[in-house]
Parts: sequence; C-alpha cells; structure tokens
Amino acid sequence: MRGLVVKSTGSWYQVLGEDQHMYDCRIKGKFRIKGIKTTNPIAVGDWVQFEIESSQDTAVITALEPRKNYIIRKSVNLSKQTQIIGANLDQAILVVTLASPPTSLGFIDRFLVTAEAYDVPAVLVFNKLDLFSEEGLEILEEYKSMYESIGYPCYAVSAVEGTNIDQIKALLKDKVTLVSGHSGVGKSTLINAIVPEANLKTGDISNWSDKGKHTTTFAEMIHLPFGGKLIDTPGIRELGIVNIEKQELCHFFPEMRARLNQCKFNNCVHINEPGCVVIEAVEEGLISPTRYDSYVSMYYNEDNRN
Ligand code: GDP
Ligand code: ZN
Repeated sequence: MRGLVVKSTGSWYQVLGEDQHMYDCRIKGKFRIKGIKTTNPIAVGDWVQFEIESSQDTAVITALEPRKNYIIRKSVNLSKQTQIIGANLDQAILVVTLASPPTSLGFIDRFLVTAEAYDVPAVLVFNKLDLFSEEGLEILEEYKSMYESIGYPCYAVSAVEGTNIDQIKALLKDKVTLVSGHSGVGKSTLINAIVPEANLKTGDISNWSDKGKHTTTFAEMIHLPFGGKLIDTPGIRELGIVNIEKQELCHFFPEMRARLNQCKFNNCVHINEPGCVVIEAVEEGLISPTRYDSYVSMYYNEDNRN
C-alpha cells in the first residue's frame, strides 16, 4: 500500500495509508540520501510503499518515493549526523517576533538561506502584533517591505488575539507547510489558533527551560480541517545548512543572485573587491545593509553556514 509519513519517532514511523488508516511502520532495507548520513532515512512528508505484517497491526516500509525537496539539519547530539525534518514541502514558515523576545535578523536570514538552499519557498510570520509599540509597528513595516522586496511574503499576526489568522489559513490551505521558529515566539499558540484540534502545549516564559522535556524532537504532521497539512518542528530552533561552500553562499541571497554576473572579477565573493556590483548596490541602498551584514557574517563564520 501507498502512504504518507505523518510522524517519526526514531525507529518507528506513523504512516497514513491510502485507506485512511494509520499504520505503525518499521524500516526494512536501506534508504539513504547520496553522500549524507541521516539519523532518520525517512521523514515526515515522505510518500512510501509499505507491506502490512501478518499480525495486522504493524507494517514494514519497503520503498521510498522520490522527494520533491527536503530540509535537513544537524542532529543535536551527534554533530556529524544529520536529520531530515521534512520532505515534499510546498513552503516553510518562520514564525518570528519583534517583542518578548525579538528575533534577530541574522537568525531570520540564516533561515531564509536554508530555505533557498533546499528550494523551499519561505514566508515570514511576525507574531505578537498586540505587543508592538508604535515604534515597533514602524520597524515591522520596514522589515516587511525589505523582505517582500526580495520576494519573501510577510504576515503580521497576534496568535493570542486572533488577529489576521484568516490570512494564515488562506496561506496554508491545500499546501504542505513546514512551521519553524525560535522557542517562545508563539509557534504553538499560533498553530492552536489555526487548528484548535492540534491542542499543542504552549509555554510560559517561566517554564522555557523545561520545554525540551515534554516536546518531541522529531517533526509531526498536523492535518488541517480546511485542507492542507502543517509540519510542526518542536524543539528545532534553527534549520541547519549542511556543507554550504563560502563561494556558493551569494546564490542563496536572491537580491545578490540577481546581480552576480556583473562584478568586475568573475570570482568575486563580494567582500571587498573593486568593481563589485553587490557592494555598489548596498551603497546605493538597493540591497539592505542588514542582509549584507548577514551575508558577511555567514561568509566568515562556518558555524553560521551549517
Ligand atoms: P513556542 O515556544 O514558539 O511554541 O511559543 P508558545 O506558543 O509556547 O508561546 C510562548 C509565550 O508567548 C506564551 O506565554 C504565549 O502565551 C505567548 N504568546 C504567543 N503568541 C502571542 C501573541 O500573539 N501575543 C502575546 N502577547 N503573547 C503571545
Ligand atoms: Zn561582487
């Protein structure tokens, strides 16, 4: 039978069969991404073939269908290993906020670079709109216009007050969407506002330190009653890029990518070369200085690239 992986907990996979029944599946055989070792060879969002075992309540995954795309990150414990956190994604949402605690632009840009590297369209959702001061609202407009001009749609919501949740529902309808965000930004509260049936635990700032204990590390798929699916990534603060080369980094900044062949030197890395059109564009205000700062910091700091 054919089915969709909706949850992975290490050695077992929950698969929703085309008969609409849920099966607990084991893996048989080897499923590998070429050249990369992963702790979970099959991920939430994967389509698989499986065979029901004679006992009827368990099954074995026998084949993995080709993936449209996937996002991987470094495993927390085994630094050399990587984990696939979602496959066959239509889009990835990063939930961010400007208040309690503000998300850094460096963090946002690293997420966007990852999404570019994996060919997944990215969207920013600014949460906690109810807490923004007048100054905060101005900064929000600034950030929104900056990111939208690059091609990343932006939304502003209040998960607690239900503001603009309809816009997010329209965005999610009939799509498979990975949802990510720093702990505390209100990702769980937002998901509950969108799908009350999900009934996710939300945290107070006071028990952040306990959060890791009662959340699962692996992603889980949430069915949207109005059509579409969410992949929640509890406990995943940051998506990781595996092996982005310094020289390739500029390709994952769309506003730089558009200008790449115009620099004086064809091996220009846009740091301090003469005749660099990227640096010129920053000076002319056509490329945001904060985006360029993120580029430079990722360029020099390998940790920011994987
Ligand atoms: P997560 O770690 O991203 O899943 O964050 P939670 O959903 O657990 O929320 C963290 C804290 O932020 C909780 O105290 C929430 O009540 C609060 N919170 C979430 N969304 C909003 C919002 O839109 N406005 C305000 N004021 N607080 C929010
Ligand atoms: Zn250049």
